[in-house]
Amino acid sequence: MMTDYPPFGAGLWHFASYVDRYATDGYAAPVSTLEQIARAGEVGDLTYVDVPYPFTDGVTIEQVKAALTQNGLQAVGVTPEIYMRRFRKGAFTNPDAAVRAQAGAVLNEAADVVRALDARYLKVWPGQDGWDYPFQVDHHQQWTLAVSGMRDLALANPDIKIVIEYKPREPRQKMFWDSAAKTALGIKAMGVENVGVLLDFGHALFGGESPAAAAQLLIDHDLLWAMDVNDNLRGWDDDMVVGTVHPVEVFEFFYTLKVNNWQGVWQLDQFPFREDTVEAARLSIRFLKGIHRALEELDIAALREAQSNEDALGAQRLVQDVLFSCLRSES
Ligand code: FE
Ligand code: FE
Repeated sequence: MMTDYPPFGAGLWHFASYVDRYATDGYAAPVSTLEQIARAGEVGDLTYVDVPYPFTDGVTIEQVKAALTQNGLQAVGVTPEIYMRRFRKGAFTNPDAAVRAQAGAVLNEAADVVRALDARYLKVWPGQDGWDYPFQVDHHQQWTLAVSGMRDLALANPDIKIVIEYKPREPRQKMFWDSAAKTALGIKAMGVENVGVLLDFGHALFGGESPAAAAQLLIDHDLLWAMDVNDNLRGWDDDMVVGTVHPVEVFEFFYTLKVNNWQGVWQLDQFPFREDTVEAARLSIRFLKGIHRALEELDIAALREAQSNEDALGAQRLVQDVLFSCLRSES
């Protein structure tokens, strides 16, 4: 059977090298934006990439455009780096108005890059907005700054879609946009039409959410505009290869997208610290294709019938019937 797969994507950082607080010399030599694009092209099944901005040193927007075209890729989103040293006490919620203005400048520049690359959205991940210690911040003040700052950005760029990616913690011990519900509430309070949510499967998982339930909540409020997949051991944002730890919950997540007729890019957000980055993407897409086939084989009517009685075992049997054979024919 010929299957029409959804478009696959990846954050370009998937193909970069990484530094942490131990290997401060990095796990591999630095990889330029252009080399990251070339590696993404090597994967073979990728159509979209999410592009961090600024690019690595010396790389121009013309070069990025040319490299994307040459590798058969399109930008799905642009991710402004509003979480570097100067924003260590926050971007939108920084206590210093001058630093908040700097963040605004980076964000508006990145909106221009969205236009130049004809990307679908500006991905906003304010990783340093939040707090570390009890009593460190005035929580009302954080809410006001986070919500009004995002509203200002949205109003200044009405032609651009903005997605907020929520995450419970890291690098801050507690991030401001930490859950599906809080993010939805904040967006409602903004009163704008061009802000939605990017749901990262792993963030929901280690934040104690059900990724499927979080997806349904956001879909029901017309806010699920993008997503990332990966996997983790539930204590941290490990950004491991999708399906390696939580295949059943990945399947429930994609089932939820399917029954809601969600159309969008199935996007990888993974950090293969010690693995070959191209092979890690290939194994992930192999799994995602299996998930897609399993969803086509799943007896959805029978599953809905089981759910109507909260028949847990009956539902699992139907899932097992298709999920654990879905990679049979894959190389
Ligand atoms: Fe992500
Ligand atoms: Fe993450």
